[in-house]
Amino acid sequence: MRPIAELTAQEANNIRYVLMDIDDTITTDGKLPACAYSALWHAYDAGLTVVPITGRPAGWCDLIVRQWPVHGVVGENGALVFWEIDGHLHRFYDENAVSNTHHTLQNIKERVLREVPQTRIAGDQFARMFDIAIDFAEEEPRLPLESAKKIQDICEEMGAIAKISSIHVNTWMGTYDKLSMATRFLAEHYGYTDPKQVIFFGDSPNDEPMFAHFPLSVGVANVLEYAPYMKQLPTFITSQKSGEGFVEGIEKLLSYK
Ligand SMILES: [Mg+2]
Repeated sequence: MRPIAELTAQEANNIRYVLMDIDDTITTDGKLPACAYSALWHAYDAGLTVVPITGRPAGWCDLIVRQWPVHGVVGENGALVFWEIDGHLHRFYDENAVSNTHHTLQNIKERVLREVPQTRIAGDQFARMFDIAIDFAEEEPRLPLESAKKIQDICEEMGAIAKISSIHVNTWMGTYDKLSMATRFLAEHYGYTDPKQVIFFGDSPNDEPMFAHFPLSVGVANVLEYAPYMKQLPTFITSQKSGEGFVEGIEKLLSYK
C-alpha cells in the first residue's frame, strides 16, 4: 500500500467521483466527527460526485440522502441505492435482492445466536429490508474478529452470502455487492465509465470488491487490523485512522483541485 501522501497530481486530476464506506471509515469510535462531515462538504462543494457505499440499512439511507451533502447512497451492501433529484427521492433495489424474511435467513439467525456466544441482532435491524445484521462489535461486549469469522462460516454453510464489516456481519440471499450497485448507479446517472475517475475510501473486508476494482482505493489506517482476513488490500493507506484518515485523504485530493 502506498501512503496517500504519494497521490500524484495526475491521479487526482482524473477523479470525478468520491465514494466512501461509512462505519470506521468516516466515523471514529461510532461518531461522525465534525472534520469528516466537513470533508464531505468540501468534496461536494468542489463539484465532485459524492456517494457513501455502506452496509447500513435502508432506513438510514433515507435520512442520509435527504440531509447529507451526497448525490446518492448505496445501502445494505449493494441491495439498494437512493438518490434525490430536483426535490424527488428515488429508490432502486437490485433485482436479485430477497426480503430478509426469507426462511434461510431466519434459520441462520437462530443458529448464530445459539452457537456463537454473546452475539446479538444489530440494533438497526428494524430499519433493514434485505439483510440480517449480527452485531459483534458495535455495542458491548466487543467480540474478536474470530467470532465474526465463525458467524460468516455458519451463514455461508447455510447457503447465504455473508460479509464482515468493522461492526456487523451482514448476511443476505441474492448476488449483489457494493461494487456492482455503485458502478451501475454512477454509470446510469452520473456518466461514469472509467474506474480511474473514482477514489474510494474503506476500512474492512466488506469493502474488498471496491478495493479490487478501483485503482485509486484508499484504506484508512485501521484497515491494517483486518488485513489478515482480506485478499484485496487498497492501493493507498492514510497515516491516520477512521474519520481523521478520511479527512487526510480528502485534503490531499483537494490540494490538487
Ligand atoms: Mg466500515
